[in-house]
Amino acid sequence: MNIHEYQAKELFAEYGVATPKGFPAKIPAEFDVALANFPEGVVVVKSQIHAGGRGKGTFTNGYQGGVKVAKTKADARAAAEAMLGNTLVTKQTGPAGRKVQTVYFDTASAIKKEYYLAILLDRATAQPVIVASTEGGMSIEEVAANTPEKIVKVRVDPALGLQDYQKRQLAFALGFKGDLLKQFGKLIAGLYNLFWEKDCSMVEINPLATTNDDHLIALDAKVGFDDNALFRHPEIVALRDLNEEDPKEVEASKFGLNYIALDGSIACLVNGAGLAMSTMDIIKHFGGNPANFLDVGGGASKEAVSAAFKIILSDKNVKGILVNIFGGIMDCDVIAQGIVAAVRETGLQLPLVVRLEGNNAANGKKTLDAAAADLPSLVSGDSMADAAQKIVKLAA
Ligand code: GDP
Ligand code: MN
Repeated sequence: MNIHEYQAKELFAEYGVATPKGFPAKIPAEFDVALANFPEGVVVVKSQIHAGGRGKGTFTNGYQGGVKVAKTKADARAAAEAMLGNTLVTKQTGPAGRKVQTVYFDTASAIKKEYYLAILLDRATAQPVIVASTEGGMSIEEVAANTPEKIVKVRVDPALGLQDYQKRQLAFALGFKGDLLKQFGKLIAGLYNLFWEKDCSMVEINPLATTNDDHLIALDAKVGFDDNALFRHPEIVALRDLNEEDPKEVEASKFGLNYIALDGSIACLVNGAGLAMSTMDIIKHFGGNPANFLDVGGGASKEAVSAAFKIILSDKNVKGILVNIFGGIMDCDVIAQGIVAAVRETGLQLPLVVRLEGNNAANGKKTLDAAAADLPSLVSGDSMADAAQKIVKLAA
């Protein structure tokens, strides 16, 4: 799960990570309320979407830049009006862009230099890794590709936590001395505590900036959380913004379905993550492209299967459906009846290939074959390969 910059900055403040003081607004009536917190002068106006590259982004109405350093409050108000309710396209949003539903008014800083600082999980060593660079502000992917020597990485032993010598190692790599060294020590300690205590999958500050009066401050904030640990953090779940998520994925999560939209044309409905992965592989193997990953869970109910069908069918790219179910706990005949009911209920016209294996599979196949008499879109598959070949051909 991801959160907005303004929410991330509130967490930063809680953990002692220096950040400008800002105020969000969700409707135009809140603009003046937010701006009343600032003295007359420069205010930074920032579009709040769950994607980076906002500074260099363009609105579909032609307005340039999702981040504006406004010279006066009146300019800030005008910038916020141009942003709110409009669609911002950045390198990370894809061509469809994202509708800005919140703008953030932030205290301006006089920047001396911009740095990059992040904490991620290094899956290879199963340790948090701190990534830092003197080349901040710009795309870190470009720095990694062109000048990898300008990126330092420090891995933290989770049992020991962040050590003082590691803080110094990072600070020296970034060239911080004297009071900045002290400020950096406090900032990185706070950032690591946040990453650790809130079960983050990543925290990123780009840019981390030094100001003309030598303060170290997080000008941007990106925080993502490990979904599997969210049950421990109701206060984080409360920050979830469903506007920023794929509506199909939101609907799926209501039924406990693990659904991830992809860009192919063959929808998959599978039980078990491993089987779902191999189903996607075999579709690819026979020349097709999966439209989604969908794991209905080990003990999928009739209701879950029916909800899964509706979610799949709301994707306009879908040209065919492959159901691949292994009946371990479940009875394949019950699944077959559920599928037939869902096909009738939704009036499915698209080709549907069903492969059932395991508990009571023979009766399940009989149910499918009997229904296929008046449901021509329904075809049964004898094996995974047979089913995959059939759906690739029918969906072509
Ligand atoms: P992103 O483009 O989505 O990563 O948005 P950022 O929050 O990083 O903002 C983009 C750029 O705006 C930053 O790299 C800064 O150069 C600039 N910026 C952000 N806040 C301030 C500020 O307070 N003062 C000044 N002068 N520039 C700022
Ligand atoms: Mn940024």
